Amino acid sequence: MTVLGDSELDPTDALSSVPAAGSRRGTPAVGRLKFCYGPMDCGKSTLALQIDHNHARQGRQGLLLVRHDRSGSAQISSRIGITRGAVELAGDTDVRGLVREMWSRGQHVDYLIVDEAQFLSPAQVEQLAELADDVQVDVYCFGIATDFRSELFPGARRLFELADELQPVQVEVLCWCGLPGRFNARVRDGVVLRAGDTVVVADTVTSSTPLVEVSTEATDSTTVRYQVLCRLHYRRGDLGPSSPQEGQLRLT
Ligand SMILES: [Zn+2]
Repeated sequence: MTVLGDSELDPTDALSSVPAAGSRRGTPAVGRLKFCYGPMDCGKSTLALQIDHNHARQGRQGLLLVRHDRSGSAQISSRIGITRGAVELAGDTDVRGLVREMWSRGQHVDYLIVDEAQFLSPAQVEQLAELADDVQVDVYCFGIATDFRSELFPGARRLFELADELQPVQVEVLCWCGLPGRFNARVRDGVVLRAGDTVVVADTVTSSTPLVEVSTEATDSTTVRYQVLCRLHYRRGDLGPSSPQEGQLRLT
């Protein structure tokens, strides 16, 4: 047993009980893969930008990614008006390649922020896990868990399977009854739709977009909108006593 003299003890080192890297062979250093999820308009993008800000303030370098951005110029934008440029991921983009590209330009990547992560392919989620494990990148994914059918998006499903940490985003969106909103119901003519093309959802979930969208699948110019409901009212297809709400429903 080695006894350290007083001169070798650093009383200011509050983390001295944490073993040095060389003595922790059993627990390799890895990054964390985290998925923050919630219904549309629950403040996910705001949280994404807040986390980016917190890391950047500590001198860490991040890369902001977004999948299926509809604004034309790839960005992460929050309802409170903050916007940051982001790299748009295509369906076949290899995220590892993006990070390597940053390295080759001499740019460090400590963390990744991925918005609209539900639209990632399962393979892309696996690439994120690989980046966390192999090159210690912390990955923060933000997105919606379930589509209008209340079934997991493929990207969200893979994140649920692989993420180190799952965090429901503090729900600011309430169902008309006051319970936390959990499902994005697709509504046409006052009826909650249970089947159809998920691409319509994909085109309308961006949190900054209005809830009223014209369905691409409708040939009769019917307007489809989305309404966040609690599970009870999602199951019952009950849109509430005040539906259609002023400014929210537009049937043509
Ligand atoms: Zn409800």
